[in-house]
Amino acid sequence: MLWSGTMENSPTPLYDCHASCAQDPATCNPLIALASGLGACGEVKCTRLLRQMLDLLPMGAWVLNGHGALLYGNPQGCRQLPAAGLGDPQPVGVPVPVAYWRKSGETVGREEWSYIRSLSDGEAHLADQIRIEYPDDRSEYIESSALPARDEAGAVQAILVVNQDISERVATEEALRSLAETDMLTGANTRRKFFHLLELEIERHARYARALSAIIFDTDHFKRVNDEHGHLVGDDVLTELGRLLAANIRKTDHFCRLGGEEFVVLLPETALDEAVASAEKLRALIEQSPMPVIGHITCSFGVSQFTPGESGSAFLRRLDQTMYQAKQGGRNRVAFQ
Ligand code: GH3
Ligand code: MG
Ligand code: MG
Repeated sequence: MLWSGTMENSPTPLYDCHASCAQDPATCNPLIALASGLGACGEVKCTRLLRQMLDLLPMGAWVLNGHGALLYGNPQGCRQLPAAGLGDPQPVGVPVPVAYWRKSGETVGREEWSYIRSLSDGEAHLADQIRIEYPDDRSEYIESSALPARDEAGAVQAILVVNQDISERVATEEALRSLAETDMLTGANTRRKFFHLLELEIERHARYARALSAIIFDTDHFKRVNDEHGHLVGDDVLTELGRLLAANIRKTDHFCRLGGEEFVVLLPETALDEAVASAEKLRALIEQSPMPVIGHITCSFGVSQFTPGESGSAFLRRLDQTMYQAKQGGRNRVAFQ
């Protein structure tokens, strides 16, 4: 008895079906055969072959029947089963792996797994990105997909779940994102990230009617630092300035390098008077903190509160003009409007 799978035009059959198999080779779906328990006795060659193929896959794979009962997991898939609420129950007190959505970081509820969704709607659900944390502190990122197999009447008889390990891809993506969002010299957010953060904070300000302020500052006479001590010393000073700022602002504030030796701190939920007080504190801190090689530097500050309806770029222009007033006024000072 020959079975040629779904490759109707295949010139050669894929493999021999076992003579004792009760399935009709014209309609047999090996996945449904496996899910209906045919493979368990080891008599049916095609389901044994399917198991061997699943075992060789470089990804986790499970097969469930149409009632959601687990029938088979390959070795890699077995490790992941408890995270999805499948497999043998773990003894009380034994830690189990936990699954989190990559995007939100929230725990993946059992009902949210793609195989449960496929069971209830009969559809394929592809490429859910999930992080699984194992009790031994290891973690992996997977792209989880559930593919239902239906009988001729359309009823789901089996579900194949494949979980591809995407940990390396995620690590590369995160490294690239970090390069785009974090300034190497100062550890501050980049200009690109600043505009993204500003957009988010303006949205939040509009939705919850919360105050939003920002402090912009530029290092005084920085050209002299480079001219007198060289560019590398200038770099070290900017690095120290970045460290100093990061250690002295609130966790909820966003510290960004706008370019050169010009920085901005976004202060969510902060009104002008509080932002001016923060800027004065930072100004005094910088003035008093020893910098590598050169001794001391100062900075000029501009502070403003976001006006409802204003665009992000108009706000930044206003901040820039305010800082310019501090420069005009003699530097090492805070101007605000
Ligand atoms: P002012 O008080 O008016 O701001 O004077 P300034 O000399 O600081 O003038 P300005 O802000 O126009 O000049 C910035 C200088 O900072 C020029 C540039 O060479 C230097 N600079 C910008 N980025 C870097 C950097 O990444 N490393 C170093 N070492 N220097 C930088
Ligand atoms: Mg300057
Ligand atoms: Mg400048």
